Formats: sequence, structure tokens, C-alpha cells
Amino acid sequence: MNFPQDEEGAELDEFIKKLRAENYKLTPQRRDILKTLLKYSDRHFTAEKLHKKVQQINSDLGLATVYRNLELFCELGFIHRLDFDSDHKYYELLESHSHHHHMICLNCEKIIEFNDEDLEDFETRLEDEYDFFSVNHFIKFYGYCQKCHNGEAQNESD
Ligand SMILES: [Zn+2]
Ligand SMILES: [Zn+2]
Ligand SMILES: [Zn+2]
Repeated sequence: MNFPQDEEGAELDEFIKKLRAENYKLTPQRRDILKTLLKYSDRHFTAEKLHKKVQQINSDLGLATVYRNLELFCELGFIHRLDFDSDHKYYELLESHSHHHHMICLNCEKIIEFNDEDLEDFETRLEDEYDFFSVNHFIKFYGYCQKCHNGEAQNESD
């Protein structure tokens, strides 16, 4: 995703404001992680992948620090954890992104986002049928992306 420069800065400022409101310090490491998260990371990322990118601007920053901060950012509602039953824990930026679901490739772990009105209608139907008040839902499909299905992708791990 390509945000204009100033919008990125505004997002970072927003996060920093929230951190301070919760009495968390903006350490240089924390700032580097946040910056990388907003600027260089894919929408869906693992701590390992983010760590690699953070190291481009701060080579001293350890993976454990990235992990700890990601957990904190989860608590603060900057990001959320995606439970993909994969070997890696995935995170996703919350920002202003709208409600969506995921398809996950079992081979290359490519993540495709989708939305479908029928699914949202299905929720309403379930509510009616079971007298249940639904607050949220998470839907994921596991399978193979087109490349992997066609046997084109090498098992590439970045
Ligand atoms: Zn794939
Ligand atoms: Zn997503
Ligand atoms: Zn939905």
C-alpha cells in the first residue's frame, strides 16, 4: 500500500499519542518498530519478517524486543493477532481497514483478503435462526494460491 508521506507521519503520531495516553514511553526501539510497521511492512506480517525489516534501520534491535512490542501493540489496539494455525504468528494492522476475511495458502502462506456480502447476510440469518446476538466473526479458508496450485511456486521463504 502506498500512503502519501504526510499521512504516514500522521498515523505514527496517532500511535504515539495513544502510547503516551497509556503511560508507555516512546523508546527509540519502539519508535523504530512502529515506523517499520507503518511504512515497510505488509498488511499481514510475522514478528520474524518485521524484525528483518526493522534491522535495516536498527541492526541492534532483537527479535525478543519485536515480540514484546507486538504484544503491547495488540493490547493497545494498534494491531491484532491473526490465528492462522500456521507455524508463525501473524499480525495485522488495524488502522481504518474495513471488515474482511482471509484465504491462506498452505504452501507459500500467501494471504488473500476478501469480503462477501453473502457472508454478512449469513450472520444475520444465524442470529435470527438461533436467537443469538453476534458481535463479530472471523472466517478463513485454507488452500492453495493459484501459483502453488499450478506447481509454479518454489517453497520460497522470503
Ligand atoms: Zn501459495
Ligand atoms: Zn487482513
Ligand atoms: Zn464478515
